[in-house]
Amino acid sequence: MLVNIENLLRENIKRLTPYSSARDEFKGEASILLDANENAFGSPLPTNYNRYPDPLQGRLKTKISQVKGVPPEHIFIGNGSDEAIDLLFRAFCRPGVDNIIIVPPTYGMYEVSANINDVLIKRVPLTSDFQLDLNGIAEAIDEYSKIIFICSPNNPTGNAINRSDIETLLNNFNGIVVVDEAYINFARQRSFTQELAEYNNLVILQTLSKAWGLAGLRIGMAFAASDIIHVFNKIKPPYNINEASQTLALQALENVDEINTWIKTTVAEREKLAASLSTLPFVQHLYPSEANFILVKMTAPKAVYNYLVELGIIVRDRSSVILCEGCLRITVGTPTENQQLLNALSGYVSVNKEQGNTI
Ligand SMILES: *Cc1c(COP(=O)(O)O)cnc(C)c1O
Repeated sequence: MLVNIENLLRENIKRLTPYSSARDEFKGEASILLDANENAFGSPLPTNYNRYPDPLQGRLKTKISQVKGVPPEHIFIGNGSDEAIDLLFRAFCRPGVDNIIIVPPTYGMYEVSANINDVLIKRVPLTSDFQLDLNGIAEAIDEYSKIIFICSPNNPTGNAINRSDIETLLNNFNGIVVVDEAYINFARQRSFTQELAEYNNLVILQTLSKAWGLAGLRIGMAFAASDIIHVFNKIKPPYNINEASQTLALQALENVDEINTWIKTTVAEREKLAASLSTLPFVQHLYPSEANFILVKMTAPKAVYNYLVELGIIVRDRSSVILCEGCLRITVGTPTENQQLLNALSGYVSVNKEQGNTI
Protein backbone atom coordinates (compact mmCIF):
# COMPACT_ATOMS: atom_id res chain seq x y z
CA MET A 1 0.00 0.00 0.00
CA LEU A 2 1.10 3.55 -0.60
CA VAL A 3 1.12 5.33 2.75
CA ASN A 4 0.65 9.09 2.88
CA ILE A 5 3.82 9.98 4.80
CA GLU A 6 3.01 13.70 4.87
CA ASN A 7 -0.24 12.92 6.72
CA LEU A 8 1.59 10.84 9.31
CA LEU A 9 3.96 13.66 10.25
CA ARG A 10 3.43 15.84 13.30
CA GLU A 11 2.16 19.31 12.40
CA ASN A 12 5.11 21.10 14.03
CA ILE A 13 7.51 18.99 11.96
CA LYS A 14 5.64 19.78 8.74
CA ARG A 15 5.91 23.48 9.54
CA LEU A 16 9.50 23.39 10.85
CA THR A 17 12.12 25.68 9.36
CA PRO A 18 15.32 23.70 9.90
CA TYR A 19 18.51 25.22 11.28
CA SER A 20 20.68 26.45 8.47
CA SER A 21 24.36 26.09 9.27
CA ALA A 22 27.24 28.04 7.78
CA ARG A 23 28.18 25.02 5.70
CA ASP A 24 24.59 24.60 4.49
CA GLU A 25 24.53 28.13 3.14
CA PHE A 26 27.83 27.99 1.31
CA LYS A 27 28.61 24.94 -0.80
CA GLY A 28 31.62 24.74 -3.09
CA GLU A 29 35.34 25.30 -2.92
CA ALA A 30 36.64 28.11 -0.73
CA SER A 31 40.14 29.00 0.42
CA ILE A 32 39.29 31.27 3.33
CA LEU A 33 36.54 30.13 5.68
CA LEU A 34 35.47 32.97 7.95
CA ASP A 35 31.84 31.93 8.24
CA ALA A 36 31.58 29.53 11.19
CA ASN A 37 33.64 31.03 14.03
CA GLU A 38 36.06 28.11 13.98
CA ASN A 39 39.68 28.32 15.12
CA ALA A 40 41.53 29.10 11.88
CA PHE A 41 44.95 28.05 13.27
CA GLY A 42 44.17 24.35 13.53
CA SER A 43 43.82 21.80 16.34
CA PRO A 44 46.24 20.87 19.13
CA LEU A 45 46.36 17.36 17.60
CA PRO A 46 48.28 15.55 14.84
CA THR A 47 45.13 15.73 12.68
CA ASN A 48 43.15 18.93 12.38
CA TYR A 49 39.55 18.85 13.51
CA ASN A 50 39.05 22.61 13.62
CA ARG A 51 36.43 22.61 10.85
CA TYR A 52 32.81 21.54 11.24
CA PRO A 53 32.08 18.22 9.54
CA ASP A 54 29.92 17.70 6.45
CA PRO A 55 26.34 17.92 7.85
CA LEU A 56 25.01 15.40 5.31
CA GLN A 57 28.07 13.10 5.23
CA GLY A 58 28.28 13.07 1.42
CA ARG A 59 31.43 10.98 1.06
CA LEU A 60 30.41 8.44 3.66
CA LYS A 61 26.95 8.07 2.09
CA THR A 62 28.49 7.47 -1.33
CA LYS A 63 30.61 4.69 0.17
CA ILE A 64 27.74 3.14 2.12
CA SER A 65 25.67 3.33 -1.05
CA GLN A 66 28.28 1.23 -2.90
CA VAL A 67 28.59 -1.32 -0.11
CA LYS A 68 24.84 -1.68 0.50
CA GLY A 69 23.49 -1.15 -3.01
CA VAL A 70 21.15 1.62 -1.84
CA PRO A 71 21.10 5.05 -3.55
CA PRO A 72 22.44 7.89 -1.32
CA GLU A 73 19.08 9.71 -1.28
CA HIS A 74 17.64 6.71 0.58
CA ILE A 75 20.31 6.84 3.30
CA PHE A 76 20.33 8.62 6.65
CA ILE A 77 23.35 8.35 8.93
CA GLY A 78 22.79 8.75 12.64
CA ASN A 79 24.88 8.96 15.79
CA GLY A 80 24.17 5.24 16.25
CA SER A 81 20.91 3.72 15.04
CA ASP A 82 19.57 4.93 18.35
CA GLU A 83 19.50 8.45 16.90
CA ALA A 84 17.34 7.27 13.99
CA ILE A 85 14.97 5.58 16.47
CA ASP A 86 14.60 8.83 18.42
CA LEU A 87 14.07 10.89 15.25
CA LEU A 88 11.26 8.54 14.17
CA PHE A 89 9.41 9.38 17.38
CA ARG A 90 10.01 13.10 17.02
CA ALA A 91 8.86 13.11 13.40
CA PHE A 92 5.76 10.96 13.64
CA CYS A 93 4.50 10.59 17.21
CA ARG A 94 2.58 13.28 19.06
CA PRO A 95 3.49 13.04 22.76
CA GLY A 96 0.54 11.93 24.85
CA VAL A 97 -1.59 11.22 21.77
CA ASP A 98 -0.03 8.66 19.42
CA ASN A 99 1.17 5.13 20.11
CA ILE A 100 3.69 2.64 18.77
CA ILE A 101 3.68 -1.16 18.67
CA ILE A 102 6.55 -3.30 19.87
CA VAL A 103 6.78 -7.09 19.93
CA PRO A 104 8.63 -8.20 23.08
CA PRO A 105 11.04 -9.70 23.81
CA THR A 106 12.93 -7.19 21.69
CA TYR A 107 15.54 -4.45 21.71
CA GLY A 108 15.07 -2.12 24.68
CA MET A 109 15.67 1.23 23.00
CA TYR A 110 12.28 1.37 21.24
CA GLU A 111 10.61 1.43 24.61
CA VAL A 112 13.07 3.90 26.17
CA SER A 113 12.75 6.27 23.21
CA ALA A 114 8.94 6.02 23.39
CA ASN A 115 9.05 6.87 27.09
CA ILE A 116 11.41 9.81 26.55
CA ASN A 117 9.02 11.14 23.93
CA ASP A 118 5.93 10.42 26.07
CA VAL A 119 4.48 8.06 23.48
CA LEU A 120 2.21 5.18 24.54
CA ILE A 121 3.63 1.69 23.95
CA LYS A 122 1.39 -1.18 22.86
CA ARG A 123 3.05 -4.53 23.47
CA VAL A 124 2.11 -7.58 21.42
CA PRO A 125 4.43 -10.39 22.59
CA LEU A 126 5.99 -12.71 20.05
CA THR A 127 4.58 -16.23 19.84
CA SER A 128 6.34 -19.04 21.76
CA ASP A 129 8.54 -19.66 18.69
CA PHE A 130 9.48 -15.94 18.69
CA GLN A 131 7.48 -15.01 15.58
CA LEU A 132 4.94 -12.21 15.04
CA ASP A 133 1.41 -12.56 16.38
CA LEU A 134 -0.19 -10.93 13.35
CA ASN A 135 -3.74 -11.15 14.73
CA GLY A 136 -2.62 -9.58 17.99
CA ILE A 137 -0.87 -6.78 16.11
CA ALA A 138 -3.98 -6.18 13.97
CA GLU A 139 -6.07 -5.90 17.14
CA ALA A 140 -3.61 -3.52 18.78
CA ILE A 141 -3.50 -1.09 15.85
CA ASP A 142 -5.75 1.94 16.13
CA GLU A 143 -5.94 5.31 14.36
CA TYR A 144 -3.18 6.67 16.63
CA SER A 145 -0.70 3.85 15.90
CA LYS A 146 2.20 5.38 14.00
CA ILE A 147 5.12 2.95 14.10
CA ILE A 148 5.62 -0.82 14.42
CA PHE A 149 9.13 -1.88 15.45
CA ILE A 150 10.37 -5.30 14.26
CA CYS A 151 13.90 -6.47 14.98
CA SER A 152 15.18 -9.20 12.65
CA PRO A 153 17.30 -11.08 13.53
CA ASN A 154 15.76 -10.29 16.88
CA ASN A 155 17.69 -9.18 19.93
CA PRO A 156 17.72 -11.00 22.42
CA THR A 157 16.23 -14.16 20.86
CA GLY A 158 18.57 -14.38 17.85
CA ASN A 159 16.06 -15.68 15.30
CA ALA A 160 14.98 -14.01 12.08
CA ILE A 161 11.34 -12.92 11.83
CA ASN A 162 9.43 -14.55 8.94
CA ARG A 163 9.82 -12.36 5.91
CA SER A 164 6.26 -12.89 4.69
CA ASP A 165 4.89 -11.69 8.06
CA ILE A 166 6.90 -8.46 7.80
CA GLU A 167 5.58 -8.05 4.25
CA THR A 168 2.03 -8.48 5.56
CA LEU A 169 2.62 -5.58 7.96
CA LEU A 170 4.20 -3.43 5.25
CA ASN A 171 1.24 -4.09 2.95
CA ASN A 172 -1.48 -3.48 5.51
CA PHE A 173 -0.30 -0.99 8.14
CA ASN A 174 -1.07 2.64 7.45
CA GLY A 175 2.02 3.79 9.32
CA ILE A 176 5.77 3.23 9.49
CA VAL A 177 7.19 -0.31 9.73
CA VAL A 178 10.72 -0.30 11.14
CA VAL A 179 12.84 -3.38 10.41
CA ASP A 180 15.91 -3.24 12.63
CA GLU A 181 18.63 -5.25 10.90
CA ALA A 182 21.48 -4.62 13.34
CA TYR A 183 22.47 -8.32 13.04
CA ILE A 184 21.72 -8.86 9.34
CA ASN A 185 25.38 -9.61 8.50
CA PHE A 186 25.17 -12.84 10.51
CA ALA A 187 21.82 -13.97 9.08
CA ARG A 188 20.85 -16.31 6.28
CA GLN A 189 17.83 -14.13 5.56
CA ARG A 190 18.47 -11.34 3.08
CA SER A 191 18.11 -7.69 3.97
CA PHE A 192 15.00 -5.64 3.16
CA THR A 193 17.20 -2.94 1.57
CA GLN A 194 16.31 -4.07 -1.95
CA GLU A 195 12.58 -3.70 -1.14
CA LEU A 196 12.65 0.08 -0.61
CA ALA A 197 11.09 0.84 -4.00
CA GLU A 198 8.21 -1.47 -3.07
CA TYR A 199 7.22 0.09 0.28
CA ASN A 200 7.22 3.80 1.07
CA ASN A 201 6.45 3.06 4.75
CA LEU A 202 9.55 0.89 5.28
CA VAL A 203 12.43 2.09 7.45
CA ILE A 204 15.40 -0.28 7.71
CA LEU A 205 17.91 0.25 10.49
CA GLN A 206 21.45 -1.03 10.24
CA THR A 207 24.58 -0.15 12.17
CA LEU A 208 28.36 -0.23 11.99
CA SER A 209 28.39 -1.16 15.71
CA LYS A 210 28.15 -4.94 15.39
CA ALA A 211 29.69 -6.87 12.45
CA TRP A 212 31.66 -3.81 11.31
CA GLY A 213 33.44 -3.49 14.65
CA LEU A 214 32.89 0.25 15.04
CA ALA A 215 30.63 0.51 18.10
CA GLY A 216 32.89 3.24 19.50
CA LEU A 217 32.41 5.51 16.48
CA ARG A 218 28.58 5.63 16.79
CA ILE A 219 27.46 5.20 13.19
CA GLY A 220 23.97 3.90 12.47
CA MET A 221 22.07 3.93 9.21
CA ALA A 222 18.41 4.25 8.28
CA PHE A 223 17.36 3.30 4.76
CA ALA A 224 13.96 4.58 3.64
CA ALA A 225 11.98 6.41 0.96
CA SER A 226 13.53 9.79 0.20
CA ASP A 227 10.51 11.60 1.78
CA ILE A 228 11.35 10.05 5.13
CA ILE A 229 15.11 10.66 4.74
CA HIS A 230 14.29 14.29 4.00
CA VAL A 231 12.36 14.55 7.27
CA PHE A 232 15.27 13.01 9.23
CA ASN A 233 17.68 15.50 7.66
CA LYS A 234 15.38 18.35 8.56
CA ILE A 235 15.12 17.49 12.27
CA LYS A 236 18.52 15.96 13.10
CA PRO A 237 21.16 17.99 14.95
CA PRO A 238 23.07 19.80 12.17
CA TYR A 239 26.44 18.09 12.71
CA ASN A 240 25.30 14.76 14.07
CA ILE A 241 28.27 12.71 12.81
CA ASN A 242 31.63 14.07 13.91
CA GLU A 243 34.56 14.42 11.54
CA ALA A 244 36.69 11.69 13.15
CA SER A 245 33.83 9.18 12.87
CA GLN A 246 33.15 10.09 9.25
CA THR A 247 36.81 9.72 8.25
CA LEU A 248 37.38 6.49 10.17
CA ALA A 249 34.13 4.88 8.99
CA LEU A 250 35.05 5.71 5.38
CA GLN A 251 38.41 4.01 5.93
CA ALA A 252 36.82 0.97 7.59
CA LEU A 253 34.34 0.49 4.77
CA GLU A 254 37.28 -0.15 2.42
CA ASN A 255 37.93 -3.40 4.31
CA VAL A 256 34.89 -5.45 3.34
CA ASP A 257 36.99 -8.61 2.94
CA GLU A 258 38.31 -8.47 6.50
CA ILE A 259 34.78 -7.95 7.84
CA ASN A 260 33.45 -10.88 5.79
CA THR A 261 36.18 -13.12 7.21
CA TRP A 262 35.22 -12.11 10.76
CA ILE A 263 31.56 -12.73 10.01
CA LYS A 264 32.32 -16.25 8.71
CA THR A 265 34.47 -17.01 11.76
CA THR A 266 31.80 -15.65 14.11
CA VAL A 267 29.08 -17.77 12.50
CA ALA A 268 31.31 -20.89 12.65
CA GLU A 269 32.18 -20.12 16.31
CA ARG A 270 28.50 -19.59 17.11
CA GLU A 271 27.67 -23.09 15.87
CA LYS A 272 30.65 -24.58 17.72
CA LEU A 273 29.77 -22.76 20.92
CA ALA A 274 26.13 -23.86 20.64
CA ALA A 275 27.20 -27.50 20.21
CA SER A 276 29.43 -27.33 23.30
CA LEU A 277 26.87 -25.48 25.42
CA SER A 278 24.24 -28.10 24.59
CA THR A 279 26.32 -30.78 26.34
CA LEU A 280 26.32 -28.93 29.69
CA PRO A 281 23.98 -30.59 32.22
CA PHE A 282 22.38 -27.30 33.39
CA VAL A 283 21.59 -26.05 29.87
CA GLN A 284 17.93 -26.70 29.10
CA HIS A 285 17.55 -25.11 25.69
CA LEU A 286 19.54 -23.27 23.05
CA TYR A 287 17.59 -21.02 20.76
CA PRO A 288 18.77 -21.16 17.13
CA SER A 289 20.57 -17.92 16.29
CA GLU A 290 21.12 -15.94 13.12
CA ALA A 291 23.03 -13.27 15.03
CA ASN A 292 26.38 -13.02 16.86
CA PHE A 293 24.92 -14.14 20.16
CA ILE A 294 23.04 -17.11 21.56
CA LEU A 295 20.10 -17.12 23.96
CA VAL A 296 20.56 -20.01 26.38
CA LYS A 297 17.94 -21.31 28.79
CA MET A 298 19.32 -22.89 31.95
CA THR A 299 18.29 -24.11 35.37
CA ALA A 300 19.83 -21.31 37.44
CA PRO A 301 20.74 -18.35 35.22
CA LYS A 302 21.57 -15.98 38.07
CA ALA A 303 23.94 -18.46 39.74
CA VAL A 304 25.73 -19.01 36.42
CA TYR A 305 25.83 -15.27 35.75
CA ASN A 306 27.37 -14.56 39.15
CA TYR A 307 29.85 -17.42 38.80
CA LEU A 308 31.04 -15.99 35.48
CA VAL A 309 31.26 -12.45 36.88
CA GLU A 310 33.61 -13.75 39.59
CA LEU A 311 35.89 -14.96 36.79
CA GLY A 312 35.67 -11.64 34.94
CA ILE A 313 33.38 -12.98 32.20
CA ILE A 314 30.31 -10.85 31.59
CA VAL A 315 27.25 -12.10 29.72
CA ARG A 316 23.78 -10.58 29.57
CA ASP A 317 21.17 -11.71 32.11
CA ARG A 318 17.83 -11.77 30.27
CA SER A 319 16.11 -14.05 32.76
CA SER A 320 13.57 -11.45 33.84
CA VAL A 321 12.52 -10.60 30.28
CA ILE A 322 9.16 -11.89 29.00
CA LEU A 323 9.52 -15.27 27.16
CA CYS A 324 13.22 -15.34 28.10
CA GLU A 325 12.73 -16.69 31.64
CA GLY A 326 15.81 -18.68 32.67
CA CYS A 327 17.93 -17.24 29.86
CA LEU A 328 21.33 -15.66 29.51
CA ARG A 329 22.35 -14.02 26.25
CA ILE A 330 25.92 -14.84 25.32
CA THR A 331 27.82 -12.89 22.66
CA VAL A 332 30.09 -14.97 20.45
CA GLY A 333 33.67 -13.86 21.11
CA THR A 334 37.03 -14.86 19.68
CA PRO A 335 37.77 -18.62 19.62
CA THR A 336 39.98 -18.14 22.71
CA GLU A 337 37.30 -16.22 24.61
CA ASN A 338 34.67 -18.81 23.73
CA GLN A 339 36.94 -21.57 24.99
CA GLN A 340 37.55 -19.65 28.22
CA LEU A 341 33.80 -19.30 28.66
CA LEU A 342 33.32 -23.04 28.13
CA ASN A 343 36.12 -23.83 30.59
CA ALA A 344 34.47 -21.59 33.15
CA LEU A 345 31.11 -23.28 32.64
CA SER A 346 32.69 -26.74 33.05
CA GLY A 347 34.24 -25.37 36.24
CA TYR A 348 30.76 -24.37 37.41
CA VAL A 349 29.60 -27.95 36.90
CA SER A 350 32.61 -29.41 38.81
CA VAL A 351 32.35 -27.00 41.73
CA ASN A 352 28.67 -27.81 42.19
CA LYS A 353 29.33 -31.53 41.90
CA GLU A 354 32.05 -31.32 44.60
CA GLN A 355 29.66 -29.45 46.86
CA GLY A 356 26.96 -32.01 46.21
CA ASN A 357 24.58 -29.48 44.68
CA THR A 358 22.11 -30.50 42.02
CA ILE A 359 22.24 -28.09 39.10
C1 LIG B 1 23.14 -3.11 19.03
C2 LIG B 1 21.84 -2.80 18.39
C3 LIG B 1 21.66 -1.62 17.69
C4 LIG B 1 22.81 -0.71 17.51
O1 LIG B 1 22.65 0.53 17.95
P1 LIG B 1 23.78 1.61 17.66
O2 LIG B 1 23.16 2.79 18.29
O3 LIG B 1 23.89 1.73 16.16
O4 LIG B 1 25.05 1.15 18.28
C5 LIG B 1 20.43 -1.37 17.10
N1 LIG B 1 19.44 -2.26 17.19
C6 LIG B 1 19.59 -3.43 17.83
C7 LIG B 1 18.50 -4.41 17.85
C8 LIG B 1 20.79 -3.72 18.46
O5 LIG B 1 20.92 -4.86 19.13
